[in-house]
Amino acid sequence: MPSVIVHYQEIALKGRNRPWFVERLVSNIRTATADLGVTGVRALMGRIELRYESEDAWTDLCERLACTPGIANFSRAVRTRCDLDAITKTVLTELADVQVESFRVTARRADKRFPLTSPELERQVGGRIKATRGWRVDLGRPELTVWVETLSDEAFCYLRKNSGAGGLPSGVSGRVACLMSGGIDSPVAAYRMIKRGCRVRMIHFHSYPILAHTSQDKVVEIARLLTRYQLDSRLYLVAFGDIQRQVVLEVPPPLRVVIYRRLMLRIAERLAHASGSTALVTGEAVGQVASQTLDNMAVIDSVTTLPVLRPLVGMDKDEIVSEARRLGTYPISIIPDEDCCTLFTPKHPATKARARRVTEAESALPVDEIVESAAADAERQDLFFPPVRAVKTRFVTSS
Ligand code: ATP
Ligand code: MG
Repeated sequence: MPSVIVHYQEIALKGRNRPWFVERLVSNIRTATADLGVTGVRALMGRIELRYESEDAWTDLCERLACTPGIANFSRAVRTRCDLDAITKTVLTELADVQVESFRVTARRADKRFPLTSPELERQVGGRIKATRGWRVDLGRPELTVWVETLSDEAFCYLRKNSGAGGLPSGVSGRVACLMSGGIDSPVAAYRMIKRGCRVRMIHFHSYPILAHTSQDKVVEIARLLTRYQLDSRLYLVAFGDIQRQVVLEVPPPLRVVIYRRLMLRIAERLAHASGSTALVTGEAVGQVASQTLDNMAVIDSVTTLPVLRPLVGMDKDEIVSEARRLGTYPISIIPDEDCCTLFTPKHPATKARARRVTEAESALPVDEIVESAAADAERQDLFFPPVRAVKTRFVTSS
């Protein structure tokens, strides 16, 4: 039965909490690969071993593991007995169809009771490969590296390392609620938090039925894609069109964007509490658009006691775009739609909103009522990956 050896990196630094982090990663890997004929996933002396039934699953396994935060790298490996003869034989069998000019062996011993040191093991196995295949040993720039890892009772050999997503296993850092617009930035911000071990709840404000359904469709698609990384997601869809209409009636144009954001944050705070989230996340970066100045951020953040995290705050747009492309959210984000904010956005929003003027303008609005009813009427969707458990819609308002 084939194996995959999974290495983690950052978790290795977690001291006494390490077993808990590793268990979470093991459980996430089990969930992510549940439909691929996996027969076991277990923590094993500083790495994780996954066993699977059939080689046919390898391509899918590769895709799933590459998306699982907390994994530094993973390799398709062959398990063998932990003695030099068995290891050498296994390696030579694995190399039967391989043709290269140069190679090296890299050995790691998890259990130092193995009778050879790592360099001795490398020399022994390397010597046999050289004698059998006639390849040149090149320690600096080998065409092929043969990895050997010895544990207490077994050893693993493999020829290729696949890169993982890095970061921390989803779920170890608590929950956050991300304001998700359907644009390019917020999905990247959500992903960054997922990679830091957070379960990200998503909140989207839409103007349906004043505008088309497109922004919601985009956000559902983005949520589905991000669910590949965090395995379960919750998405709240909040009707915001009527709220914006009220703002347009009561608030002078330059202050409207800041007030939309303050209302969004207050509603998001309610939904964050309801979903056990302890921070809010946005896709803002300093100076990117008029509403994203330091002055405005301060005035916007003052409506909530939750920390407002902005993982992209110091990034350039082209850096964010590259990450969105890598992530796969970019093609969805650029589908044209009318953002609820563009519809009611003034030509010249204030870049230096004054707190006093903003609160004065806001006093014309029934803020508590607006927030209360928007949060209560929010539509909630729960999504899962793998999607064996179909999307469940818990509560849908009539439109
Ligand atoms: P994005 O690409 O994420 O839309 P942006 O550069 O277009 O960002 P803004 O439209 O000013 O910037 O939005 C800033 C942030 O406010 C977004 O990243 C998102 O977190 C939040 N936001 C804006 N519009 C919405 C919305 N309709 N629903 C939920 N969050 C929103
Ligand atoms: Mg936007």
